[in-house]
Amino acid sequence: MLVSETGKVWMNGTLVDLAQAKVSVLAHTLHYGVGVFEGIRGYPTPKGGVIFRLRDHVKRLMISAKVYRMPIPYSEDEIVDAIVSTQAANDVYPSYIRPVVYRDGPALGVKNLTTKVSLAIAAVPAKKYLGEKSDNGIRAKISPFRKAHSDSLPSLAKANGNYLGGYLAGTDASQDGYEEAILLDSNGFVAEGTGENIFLVRGGVLYTPSSEGDILLGITRDSVIRIAQDLGFRVVEKMLSVGELLTADEAFFAGTYAEIAPIREISHYILGNGKPGPMTRDIQDVFYKTVHGEEPRYADWLHPVPPIAKPVARAARR
Ligand code: PMP
Repeated sequence: MLVSETGKVWMNGTLVDLAQAKVSVLAHTLHYGVGVFEGIRGYPTPKGGVIFRLRDHVKRLMISAKVYRMPIPYSEDEIVDAIVSTQAANDVYPSYIRPVVYRDGPALGVKNLTTKVSLAIAAVPAKKYLGEKSDNGIRAKISPFRKAHSDSLPSLAKANGNYLGGYLAGTDASQDGYEEAILLDSNGFVAEGTGENIFLVRGGVLYTPSSEGDILLGITRDSVIRIAQDLGFRVVEKMLSVGELLTADEAFFAGTYAEIAPIREISHYILGNGKPGPMTRDIQDVFYKTVHGEEPRYADWLHPVPPIAKPVARAARR
């Protein structure tokens, strides 16, 4: 993902130029990976800009921060407002919004509870995480790197350090020519992608790894389950084996940055006829209509972003 080199960043209460948004090289988070963050999308709609499921993302950020004993010095409402004002100041759609909570040091010592906890928020132009053609199907590799067990790193927290495993898996998959990796958990059940949850279709039923597994409880995952049920599909959350994965009729990733990305091939096994399947297409269709404000049923998932007041030219004096 390339990030724009301009734009405004909200940092501890003030909007500053990206070039001015700096942290110390001795920041605790930089050395130990102890930080938490969110990935959120802004979309254009006929009624103006919106942020998808903003409050749910802020709630998850606060849970992640609690797991890692990082008291965020702002309330839920203040963080919601800060994200809206960052999005409004950058005024770019579709956008990817990245709030990050970190200890900005200087502190050299792992068990740190005293260094200041900071919040920064960036909003940059969004691309597709899995490539501009990912809506039409991607190739994924089952990774040799396993997802860390929640006994070690609680998977419900979206923590910076959790992504070391995703980095190993994702870079291995891309060096082998795949668009994404699928990580198994420590028992060999299907967990998730590097930045997405995963869904399978078998015999007309939609399956996704159970929330009891070592997965991040994705907000897109939750949206997909609701949309699929409303479409009349049966949705089953359970532990899924590699055999079930490789012989699925359809599969797709679901995540904020990846959106809904059909998987056409997994580790050289072609799924179905190698094209996005009908259930995937139905869900994708409702999802994209929803985020673009064309599906009134899920309108309460869209948080409006008021445009920033443009300076009004004074009426000419007579
Ligand atoms: N799993 C992981 C590891 C992720 O990083 C993400 C992206 N946040 C997801 C799943 C999907 O979560 P969401 O739909 O909330 O973006």
